[in-house]
Amino acid sequence: MRTLDSTTSLRIAVQKSGRLTDKTINLLKGIGLNFDDYKRSLLVKCLNFDVELLLIRDDDIPEYVEDGVCDLGFVGANTVAEDEADVSILRGLGYGVCRLSIALPKNGSHKIEDLAGKKIATSYPVLTKKYFESKGIDVNIITLSGSVEIAPRLEIADAITDLVSTGGTLKANGLIEVETIFDSETQLIQTNKPLSEGKQKLTEKILQRIEGYKKAAESRYIMMNAPQEAVPKIKEIIPSLKSPTVMPLADNGMVAIHTVVPLTTFWDVMENLKEAGATGIVMLPIESMIV
Ligand code: ATP
Ligand code: ZN
Repeated sequence: MRTLDSTTSLRIAVQKSGRLTDKTINLLKGIGLNFDDYKRSLLVKCLNFDVELLLIRDDDIPEYVEDGVCDLGFVGANTVAEDEADVSILRGLGYGVCRLSIALPKNGSHKIEDLAGKKIATSYPVLTKKYFESKGIDVNIITLSGSVEIAPRLEIADAITDLVSTGGTLKANGLIEVETIFDSETQLIQTNKPLSEGKQKLTEKILQRIEGYKKAAESRYIMMNAPQEAVPKIKEIIPSLKSPTVMPLADNGMVAIHTVVPLTTFWDVMENLKEAGATGIVMLPIESMIV
């Protein structure tokens, strides 16, 4: 399916308008790709790289990438799996996190086994069928394109499978989430069709930059003052990538220490540093990082 002219630009599929759009565009901007207004056009040229974005419905992305109409795509793992698309998954991106779950009416049996012979409404028939088959439960799958959560109340179905992040929509519709059948996040996917050397290089560069961008988002730059004699203890506390920078201060016996810490350990590290004698501890976000 080649509906667009071939191009030398690396063509990346992005959801036109939905939950993934802004986060994906922000990620691309964050790794240094500049674009004209992406809301006005379907095909948007990157101003500083040989890249163009094709803005389409998320459901179409796996197929466009499989067919090589787009070289790369940003799309939910759920969509790729539902499509059973023949593409390469380059990496998970940590946003658009959600799960495909089975939900049942609050009143009634909450056992999956009791769904045998019952009707299950879903927008994800492939993943749903695979799940019930794997459990050996024979169900009747009804495919709906949207508003699945209302199906039990309309007596169209006995249960549903739907994407959930907070669970608020299910609750509001009198449903209870009983089982996760697929965990999802946004993924960067690549076509399995051969790429030109230039496109392949650019893809590697984009991946590397995403790596740096993600690392930076998960790290904090911290600066503090401390007495010189506290330095060995502080070095022990800081699970730093490399040794921290230690600079003498005008104050006798005092030093300034600069380093990077993973966000996950940040609060523990801060408290331990204070105990070790550090003062004036300042934390800064990091825009990007190449390690
Ligand atoms: P389109 O018009 O592009 O087809 P859509 O309505 O199918 O849009 P969205 O609701 O924007 O799609 O969801 C896009 C993706 O966002 C989902 O496929 C999923 O990967 C992810 N997502 C994250 N959280 C949720 C959630 N709570 N509900 C639905 N999708 C979610
Ligand atoms: Zn969609």
